[in-house]
Amino acid sequence: MKNKETLCVQAGYTPDNGEERVPSIVLSTTYAYNSPEELAGIFDLTTPGYMYNRISNPTCTCLEEKITALEGGVGALSLASGMSAVNVAMLALCNAGDNFLAPSALYGGTYNLFAVTYKRQGIECRFYDLDATESDIEKLVDEKTKVIFVETIANPAGVVADFEKLSKIAKKHKIVFMVDNTIASPYLCRPIEFGANVVVHSSSKYLDGHAIALGGLIIDAGNFEYLGNKRYPDFNKPDNSYHGLVFGKDFGRQGYITRARMVVNRDIGAVMSPMTAFLTFNGMTTLHLRMEKHSQNTLALAKAMEKHPLVKWIKYAGLESDKDYKKAQKYLYKGYVAGMLSFGIKGGREAAVKFQKALKLIRIAVHIADARSCTLHPASTTHRQLSDEALIAAGVAPEMIRLSVGIEAEQDIINDVLQALEASQK
Ligand SMILES: *Cc1c(COP(=O)(O)O)cnc(C)c1O
Repeated sequence: MKNKETLCVQAGYTPDNGEERVPSIVLSTTYAYNSPEELAGIFDLTTPGYMYNRISNPTCTCLEEKITALEGGVGALSLASGMSAVNVAMLALCNAGDNFLAPSALYGGTYNLFAVTYKRQGIECRFYDLDATESDIEKLVDEKTKVIFVETIANPAGVVADFEKLSKIAKKHKIVFMVDNTIASPYLCRPIEFGANVVVHSSSKYLDGHAIALGGLIIDAGNFEYLGNKRYPDFNKPDNSYHGLVFGKDFGRQGYITRARMVVNRDIGAVMSPMTAFLTFNGMTTLHLRMEKHSQNTLALAKAMEKHPLVKWIKYAGLESDKDYKKAQKYLYKGYVAGMLSFGIKGGREAAVKFQKALKLIRIAVHIADARSCTLHPASTTHRQLSDEALIAAGVAPEMIRLSVGIEAEQDIINDVLQALEASQK
């Protein structure tokens, strides 16, 4: 069972004779034991088993095993949201006084976590330019640098990561390379093959695929040597809450994900609900089919818009004219770039508002990456408090419109956009 299409459909759960075909939703928060010794073994991490849903749950395990197989890792942890996945993944590596590297082209929530919340907690994000040279990025590294972070396809900037450049720096300095693979999904990209040590997801997007379940995932690639690496004392010294176990030593290649689960999220408690795990697990069964259609539809739409006189600029790395086209071809399966596209409309903020009102099939929604096409105009919604000058400084042009292209018929989506473009000028 190697091909990723088969893994989407089959991985994560194999029923025994007469068992339910689809994983059941285990809503029991706790588990019963015959003796305290049996439960003690689970607490000591010497025997596997379930004790309480803040640590693990059988339905969540199925989802974790499915994403582990798809990403090609050694273990995964499911969480309450994409934001909690990013947070727990980072806190498993960073303490007050530490720093990490991230580009400013990030998902808005992640940007805020990194630039504001972590700053308050004494963890410093050193922002690097995605186009910067290897040696310029390297200058930001010191002995307290714990992570190099990037999004495979930045949301909403649409920039494709240069895995080769970043993983080279990470390897040279023995720093964890962490990739947010939300927008590409493991069907279009498996960052571990390009040097990632930790992969995170907002499963609320393509993995769920139907806009029904908020969730997050962390995947451990199992390819980073924590033992003996002075950057990561938490993986090299005995943990008092587990009788002196050493996470870099006692859990083989699963030290990172075990510590994320058994230490960090044990204390934070941002767990995924079993219901969400069930919905996400089943959504992922069709991930491969949906990603193909999202990508094909979006490329067709981008081509129809590219030379349109009312389109000032367009950002989609699937277009040959795009500056990220080569990276998309190199790192993304079949050069597919998923369903997120942004463009600038002629006529600025006013035309953008008229365009949004004129759309019939495509609805306005604060979401991306589900089966239904949707749109957002940041300047009049999520970023409406900012002046035009402040918007430009934040990298959000007043005329910028974000489209999340769904899996409806290609021509229906194109027709809706073309008629709304015309209507935007009236
Ligand atoms: C949506 C998103 C997140 C945050 O996920 P939530 O599930 O909304 O918490 C993180 N990273 C990226 C790239 C996203 O698109």
